[in-house]
Amino acid sequence: MIGRLPRELPPTAGLPLQASDFLPGSGLLGQRLAAQLRTPPLQLECSGTSALLIALRTLQQLQPQRPVVVVPAYTCPLVAIAVHSLGLQLRLCDLRRDHFDLDPQALAVACDESTLAIIPTHLGGRVADVEQACTIAHRVGAYVIEDAAQALGALDHGQSVGLRGDIGFFSLAAGKGLSIFEGGLLLAREPRLRAALQRNADHHVHRQPGWELRRWMELLGLALCYRPQLLPLVYGRPLRRGLQRNQPEEAVGDVFPLSIPQHRVSRWRGHVGYRAAARLPDFLQRGRERARQLKARLQQIPGIRVLDDAVGQQGVWPVLILQLASQARRDAALQALWGAGVGASRMFIHALPDYAYLQTIVADAPIPNARDFAARTLTLGNSAWLDERAFQIIHHALTAAATD
Ligand SMILES: *Cc1c(COP(=O)(O)O)cnc(C)c1O
Repeated sequence: MIGRLPRELPPTAGLPLQASDFLPGSGLLGQRLAAQLRTPPLQLECSGTSALLIALRTLQQLQPQRPVVVVPAYTCPLVAIAVHSLGLQLRLCDLRRDHFDLDPQALAVACDESTLAIIPTHLGGRVADVEQACTIAHRVGAYVIEDAAQALGALDHGQSVGLRGDIGFFSLAAGKGLSIFEGGLLLAREPRLRAALQRNADHHVHRQPGWELRRWMELLGLALCYRPQLLPLVYGRPLRRGLQRNQPEEAVGDVFPLSIPQHRVSRWRGHVGYRAAARLPDFLQRGRERARQLKARLQQIPGIRVLDDAVGQQGVWPVLILQLASQARRDAALQALWGAGVGASRMFIHALPDYAYLQTIVADAPIPNARDFAARTLTLGNSAWLDERAFQIIHHALTAAATD
């Protein structure tokens, strides 16, 4: 058993907020990010899931006779909840073996004339093969929504993710890079689709001062507590309690309410993000450099594979996703590391059908690769606070788990 650090590292690398981010006045978050990422205008919403709801509703209006949405069998439970909450049918697509992306053969089988949209997902900052999803989608007349919730700043052949498909969305939730505690951004290449997304939001999303006040307090809490000295209190303690009770889904925050709040983001909260976003390009670049070094060292451990970019992709690195040779070895590594305060965790605990609380909305399906991916992967937060001492703890545990 490894002794716990007096400090706690976060499970994902978020951009720390500063007191000066809360000064009044400034500019528009969506505009600053669009300029940085060289995208068309970005539409600010109250969460990534809310952005996805707006995207799906907009497409539903364009193709009301198509009820099916195809999603990766291993993804954020909020995606399944969003699809279900609009009365659409969820269809799971298995992953490629040893990969986070949609399996092309399974995807071709899953898509037909009833398919409204396919949701390829840029998991953990890695870039998905959207081209492949588009080819299959367009064959049957379906749309493609890129889930780039975890990939703000990622580039595919020099262009921001989210622009190859019909619609894309980013998340600004706590723990996903740049955060205003909860927020999301919609993007679309086509001006007409962008206008339709904005109209849909204007119609469906209203001011809700109660929600906004709550998010303000939570954002202040995040700004105060997102540091290694305070993370044991707000992150580490609930995590260890969940693990002790053998409730890993609660421990990593995979259990969500089945209804999604939608409300407008106040200008003030956008301003906080605007100021913080000035530091984003530098933050992402440092993250890439850290990840490159971490990856090189971890890959020298026999039996450890780190998911990486393919040629032409330049992802972002909130986490490193590691795959081990078996579930037993993955579990042994986590046994040593999960509660140790070094930022080790799991992406999502299960493939979607294996969450008990989702059983009424997700049907079981033959998805062996997604289950295998859930069973053999773990994540390491690529935090700037990950020092040599924490790295040695990680290295030691992974070596023992992978090679014993
Ligand atoms: C977090 C996440 C979402 C939802 O974004 P929120 O901003 O938390 O609503 C959707 N998809 C993936 C893959 C995510 O990780």
